[in-house]
Amino acid sequence: MRVVRVEGFEDWRREARALLAAEVRPEQVSFQPSEASQDSLFEEDGPSAAMGETQTARITVPRGFLDLAETVALHREERRWDLLYRVLWRVNHSERHLLAVDVDEDVRELLLMEKAVRRDIHKMHAFVRFRKVADEEGERYVAWHRPDHRIVFAVGPWFARRFGAMRWSILTPDGSVHWDTRELTHGPPVTQSEAPQGDDMEELWRSYYASIFNPARVKVKAMKAEMPVRHWATLPEADIIPQLLQQASQREVQMRETQKTSAAPFVPGDHRLEVLAPAVQRCQGCELYQFATQAVFGEGARQALVMFVGEQPGDVEDVKGRPFVGPAGKVLDEALAEAGIDRREVYVTNAVKHFKFEERGKRRIHKTPRGVEVAACKPWLEAEMDAVQPKLIVALGATAAVSLMGRDFRITRDRGVFFPHPRAEALLATVHPSYLLRLPDPQQKAEEYVKFVEDLRLVAERVRELGVAR
Ligand code: SF4
Repeated sequence: MRVVRVEGFEDWRREARALLAAEVRPEQVSFQPSEASQDSLFEEDGPSAAMGETQTARITVPRGFLDLAETVALHREERRWDLLYRVLWRVNHSERHLLAVDVDEDVRELLLMEKAVRRDIHKMHAFVRFRKVADEEGERYVAWHRPDHRIVFAVGPWFARRFGAMRWSILTPDGSVHWDTRELTHGPPVTQSEAPQGDDMEELWRSYYASIFNPARVKVKAMKAEMPVRHWATLPEADIIPQLLQQASQREVQMRETQKTSAAPFVPGDHRLEVLAPAVQRCQGCELYQFATQAVFGEGARQALVMFVGEQPGDVEDVKGRPFVGPAGKVLDEALAEAGIDRREVYVTNAVKHFKFEERGKRRIHKTPRGVEVAACKPWLEAEMDAVQPKLIVALGATAAVSLMGRDFRITRDRGVFFPHPRAEALLATVHPSYLLRLPDPQQKAEEYVKFVEDLRLVAERVRELGVAR
C-alpha cells in the first residue's frame, strides 16, 4: 500500500496523474493529509519522486470532473482524496460516463460532498459578520467564522470583490485571509477567543437584520437550518430573533398590504448607505431581481452636494455591481470632466437597481423598465436621498426624471432648467449618456454631446454657489 501525502487540490492532481500513469490501482494507494503523522504500518512512497516526470501521462477527464474535484477537495472528510482517485481511475478505465450515473455509490458520495461544500460556501457568504477594529494603518474589519469545510481560502476572492474598498480579515480555525484593498494574503488559523468581540458594527447588523427579516416566511425549523444555531454565537443579530418572531404575525399583515409590487418591505428603517447597500441585494420588490446578476446600488461621496440619477444598470454594471462603469459611464465621466465636475465628489445611482434586459443569442439587450418597476424601486432611491441629502439632483434621462418629477415631466421640454424638489434645493434633468451612444449620426451625436456638457456646466456653476454656502 502506497501512502501519498497531499496538502491540497493541486497536490492531489499532480500525484493522481502520476499514479494513474503508473497504473496504480485505487486499492493500492491511500492519500493522507500531509500534516498527518505517518502510520508505521504503511510504507510511504510518493509517486512523483519514485516515478519522475517522464512517467506521468496526459490524462483526459470528462467535462466537469475537475470543477467537481476542486470543490470536493475542500470537504473536511479525509477519504475525499481516495474517493476522487477511485472515480478518476474508473473514468479512465472503461467507465467514461461514470459521472452521469448518479446512483453509483462513489458518484453519489462525491455529489453529496460537493453539495455540502457549496452549501457551506453559501453560509459563509451569508453569515460572516465583520467587526470594526483599529490597527496601525487605520480601520480594519475583522470576522471570525467556523466553516464546516476547508473553504476559507476559496471564498477569499468573493469577499475581496464584495468588500473591495475596505481592509478586512476573516479568521477561522483552518486559516485566515486578509485583504488590504489590493491584495489577498493568507495567514495562520485563529481561535474564536483570539478574535475581536463586539463593537458598534453589531448595532448596524442588528438593524440590518431586523429590516430584512421577513415575517411572512417565518418557519423556525427552516430558519435553524438556514442559519445554523452553531453560527449564532458570532451573529450580533441572533439575540433579536426571539423578539422579531414575537412581532412576526403583526408585521406579516402589514407586509402583505404593502408587498404587492414594492421595494418598501425590503428597505431597512436605517437609511445609512452601509446598511442600504447590502440590503438591496435581497430585494424582491418586483420581478427584475430574478434575472439580473445582482442589484447595483449607488456609490460616491457620502455627503455629495450633487446626486446623479440614471435609469438602471447596464450590462457591464450588472456584472461589476457598480453604477456607470460601462460605455455610458465613460461618456458621463468625460462630460463631467469637461464641465469641471469631479466624479469622486458626486453620488451616482439609478432609479431602478436591477438590470432589465432581453436575451438575443449571447447578448443581453437593455429593456426600458416599466412604470410599475420604477415605482417599485423608488423606496431605495428615497432612502439614498435620505442618506446623502444632496443639494442638487440631476436626473439623467426620462425614466429618472419621471421617477423624481412625475409623469408630466418631459426631458425634451424641461431639460436644463432647475426645478424645486422636496428632496433637494433643486433638480435639473438632462439626457441619459446612453442616448448619445445610440445616436447613429456623428454630427447629431457631437451636437447633443455639447448640449449635454452645457447642462452639466449649469450644474457645476450651481455647485460652486452651493459649495460656498454649505
Ligand atoms: S428593481 Fe428595485 S424593486 Fe425591483 S427587485 Fe430590484 S431593487 Fe427591488
